[in-house]
Amino acid sequence: MRMGSARRSRGLLAGLLAAVVATAGCFVGGVSGPSQGEEPAPRRSAAAPDPSVTRADGTTSIEEFADDVADAQAVAERYWAAQFRSSGQQFRPVRRIVPYQRAGEVSCGGQPLPRNNAVYCSQGDFIAYDVAWSVAAFRQVGDAFVFYLLGHEYAHGIQVRLGIRYDFTIQQELQADCMAGAYLGDSVRSRALTLGEGDLDEFREGLAAVGDDPDQPWFAEGAHGTAEQRTESFFRGYERSLSACDLG
Ligand SMILES: [Zn+2]
Repeated sequence: MRMGSARRSRGLLAGLLAAVVATAGCFVGGVSGPSQGEEPAPRRSAAAPDPSVTRADGTTSIEEFADDVADAQAVAERYWAAQFRSSGQQFRPVRRIVPYQRAGEVSCGGQPLPRNNAVYCSQGDFIAYDVAWSVAAFRQVGDAFVFYLLGHEYAHGIQVRLGIRYDFTIQQELQADCMAGAYLGDSVRSRALTLGEGDLDEFREGLAAVGDDPDQPWFAEGAHGTAEQRTESFFRGYERSLSACDLG
């Protein structure tokens, strides 16, 4: 792949992303319910990522963002397909990835999805994300954030496939962060992805920005975990693979 490079500047990014994320009801959240009316996502087949390709071109174009989303989806599909295969199970990829631009343009379980959000919708088995919000985060944090975002939402789809359902959302969310870390760490180790310089910092920066407010009770519906908890879970999976994620 192509996980970018240290091509983007840092420093000014975290504040803006934090502001953006603070308005999100449930960033990388777990809205569930039947789907309806969503647009078909532009989708690309899971072509083998070419580790020799790098894109250290300094751009943050929409096209590049779309390419990264497609790459992240392709790598996630290949990764989870291999995991399922190795345990003798059939794998069904998440049905589609649905970008949206307006509040209510896509619904999940009869609930219109708000702006500034990304979710996995279990009823429709799709991932939906606000394009403008995701592109803003991509520009602020870097391309690694896109891989994290897709990896986290994809992990919710895997949890559903595995029948994993915790009592508290924070458990579900921190496990998804761990699984996103495992998918990325394992993909780097297998050379399905190539880390660019700065990508690990981008993960840290993105995770720091998406943590819950310190005054959010851990048991609250919709709690995802503090920045520290999310970072710890992600890197536990990244370094130690799925065995660190309590998949049972
Ligand atoms: Zn989530």
